Amino acid sequence: MKILKINTQNQIYTNTNIPTKTVSAPKAEQNSELLLTQLNNLAVVNHIAFTGQNNGYEIGLSGRELLKRTKPERFGHINLLSADAPEYQRLAAGDKKALAHLVHAANLIGEINMKLDDENNIPFRTYLESEIKKGNLRAELTYELFKGQKGAFSQDMEFNHISLIKGMKQSLGKGVYPRDLSVEEFHNILERMIYDGEIEAVKKMLTQRSVVVRDGDKLKGIDYIDYYKKEFTQVAHHLEQAAKHSTNEDFNEFLRYQAEALKTADPLLDAYADKKWATLQDTPLEFTITRENYDDKMTETIFDNEKLLKLLQKNGIQPIAKDFIGGRVGIVNKEGTDFITSSKDLLPKLAELMPYRNEYTQTINKDNKQTMVDVDLVTVTGNVGEHRGKITLAENLPNIDKLSLTIGGGRRNVYHRQMRVNKDNLFEPYKKLLVPEQLAKLSPNSYHYFTIFHENAHSLGPNKGHEKLGKYRNIIEENKADIAAIAFTDKLTELGVYSEFEREALLINFVLQNYLKAKPDAHVAHRVRQVMQAKYFEDNDVVRLTKDGKIFVDVEKVVPTAQKMLKEIIRIQIDGDYKAAGEYVDRNFVWTPKMEYIAKELRKNSKMLNAKVNTPLADALSNN
Ligand SMILES: [Zn+2]
Repeated sequence: MKILKINTQNQIYTNTNIPTKTVSAPKAEQNSELLLTQLNNLAVVNHIAFTGQNNGYEIGLSGRELLKRTKPERFGHINLLSADAPEYQRLAAGDKKALAHLVHAANLIGEINMKLDDENNIPFRTYLESEIKKGNLRAELTYELFKGQKGAFSQDMEFNHISLIKGMKQSLGKGVYPRDLSVEEFHNILERMIYDGEIEAVKKMLTQRSVVVRDGDKLKGIDYIDYYKKEFTQVAHHLEQAAKHSTNEDFNEFLRYQAEALKTADPLLDAYADKKWATLQDTPLEFTITRENYDDKMTETIFDNEKLLKLLQKNGIQPIAKDFIGGRVGIVNKEGTDFITSSKDLLPKLAELMPYRNEYTQTINKDNKQTMVDVDLVTVTGNVGEHRGKITLAENLPNIDKLSLTIGGGRRNVYHRQMRVNKDNLFEPYKKLLVPEQLAKLSPNSYHYFTIFHENAHSLGPNKGHEKLGKYRNIIEENKADIAAIAFTDKLTELGVYSEFEREALLINFVLQNYLKAKPDAHVAHRVRQVMQAKYFEDNDVVRLTKDGKIFVDVEKVVPTAQKMLKEIIRIQIDGDYKAAGEYVDRNFVWTPKMEYIAKELRKNSKMLNAKVNTPLADALSNN
């Protein structure tokens, strides 16, 4: 639950001003017409020549669309560490060896998540690879997009749904429920199984760590570890090998715990691994199996069925959305880490400022078990590395639904250095939009500071009852983290964390970031809360448009408005009131004319639609 994803619109940008939908191709695109014709011809030839050998797959996007989406101004590249990076060269020989095993492990995790995401991903990739060998350029361009979004299905940065497979859509249950299972059938089966007394079987289905399959006219949940036994055993092997070579004994102990948790399906083993992992502060290397449950929309449908939900709860079953997993490998950056850890001591002070703080236990435990590291990334695979309109900038794990937090485990926050590149370009999309005197104040550090306190804010607030908020849980938790980070700005300035100049920059930047390039659908937790925040700040007269159509932020209103909003959020989290949460989200998830106007201007200033993470060092290590 603890990730902050930002739109790459803010990272990589372009100056070009070609409207997205053109009737006649502009000059720059005319040269590609010839290539396009060739592409289409090739595709036709391939299609005819190889019909019957394509597993039934056809490429979903036209040659024109593929060319458009893979152009540099629309397709961003995020480059992770290269093979000659000093960060890598400086490592001890043993750590270098360990790193290679960790990259292999992360790659395998990526493969598993590819299957959790959709059963068609890997067969379709195989199809693309065979087409590329035959010289199919459409397949080659499709593969670029596939590598970026790490799967066949995605949304782009303007929230268009992308399917790289012709005639196919991502199903609600992704790869963790049967593709042909409808919501109605799902709910009926659950109900029937409960009336038949199969409580344990239903429990297994509705945990965060199972794949649900058909079992006659019923359903059956199989723990990830058992379902992907072969793959997880290979991951465990690489972790054990890495533990033999790495120079840090704490890190090795974690790797051994993690390997055990991948060999036997037992949440408690995960908890031991998570608990050890969360203590890692001074290790040369970073390795994480990330687990996040934002993306399972099937389990969440249960929260809309009050009768079923009550029936489940009466039988002691709390449905939890399923985890999607990722592999993160990196090298801890000392300097960046020192900067970030200086924020840690402030957490208890900030906890004092939380609204209604006497009504609940803060998520941070008394001894403030929170580690945080800044990491130079070697690779990010699976869920943590996919660019689907956004990419993970930092992650605070484990999430609140995990057992380790109940056995005395803390949290660990990992910041992704390479995701913060091109900071100088951060504000380009707003250049023509913001009043010049405020534009001049924006500082490249604003986003990083905000991210740090967003992540910290996840460790504040009520520490239980979140699951009662069902499908609104993630939206509200992310909303809390954003708004708390801003509500504390004045206190942090008083404590000397921000200068007055930085304070203003941070507040202006925050207000701007809530304006999106297009209206998101209600399923994207991270984007929904941005619309909600834009609406709330609009209602409180924080944002005004000048006569010539520029944005003016009333800076002094930002913090009081955030404080007001934070109170509403914390009230909902304390009460665990699903209905109140729904009303709160509906009230604020409103796309206003002002948002539409700003979205249009942002689209003019930034053409970026998709992006891809490049991993040269990891590629070199995995080929050895
Ligand atoms: Zn977050």
